[in-house]
Amino acid sequence: MLLVLALSACSGADPAATVSTAVAPSSSPAATGSTASATSDPSAGPDGSAGPDPSPTADAGAGTLPAPVQREPAPATSGAAADPTASPTTSPTATPPAAGTYTDPTAVDVVVNKRRPLVPLDFAPAELRQPDVATATDNALLRPDVAAAVEEMFAAAGNDGVALTLVSGYRSFATQEATYASWVAQYGDAAGADTVSARPGYSEHQTGLAFDIGQADGACTLVLCFRDTPAGQWAATRAADFGFILRYPLGFHEITGFSAESWHFRYVGKDVSLAMKAAGTQTLEEHLGLPAAPSY
Ligand SMILES: [Zn+2]
Repeated sequence: MLLVLALSACSGADPAATVSTAVAPSSSPAATGSTASATSDPSAGPDGSAGPDPSPTADAGAGTLPAPVQREPAPATSGAAADPTASPTTSPTATPPAAGTYTDPTAVDVVVNKRRPLVPLDFAPAELRQPDVATATDNALLRPDVAAAVEEMFAAAGNDGVALTLVSGYRSFATQEATYASWVAQYGDAAGADTVSARPGYSEHQTGLAFDIGQADGACTLVLCFRDTPAGQWAATRAADFGFILRYPLGFHEITGFSAESWHFRYVGKDVSLAMKAAGTQTLEEHLGLPAAPSY
């Protein structure tokens, strides 16, 4: 079971990044890119999981590493431009937000998944900053409120003798666009890319609320086995105390749309994180009574 879900596509999924396991988060995007192929194992399951090698997670530092392929990320098309990659079929793309529907991209309760794109598609947080914590990249930006909570969590981990590292944070629409495009190029089609990377406008990393963490020594960075490291275990147990949830838990890809990503955390505020922890609810969709989003 573990292996099965291993590969996931962080919503943020950055193809490039992910890729290889051991790829140091710092590795250059380009470098990564090359590895990507490895990662993306065609055999990968629908969620990108399943690949024999769990390591290839898509999310992978994605955030961190910009696009593997150094293509100039086409400036995000205007929000309206909708997702170029979107299948003709459709996606609820331009549906205007409505109160209480968890669609306000500036709210901590926004829910982004394969059935719930950001509105506008090229949304960008008004303010971002790099948390004052150990990072694997100098480009791990988060919303200020989230950055503060991350600092609090990392300090608490440190007090417990656990050294966490921030691997990636905010990813812009343009970055995700380039990342996704590089995966499409590698797979040859969107279907393959969708198993490991979120389409631009559908990545939780674009909200500034999500981030990926690692262990200071780089063990299992962006790989499912991170869950077995001291850092991964500490975070899984304590993240809720700081307002975070493990967004893509193992075994819930049919609901979240992505395979397990033991390193991807999402800020939801303590009210929600602690309520979910107390109730034993594993996914944000279930907690909020939203439909499952197994696919686009
Ligand atoms: Zn992530």
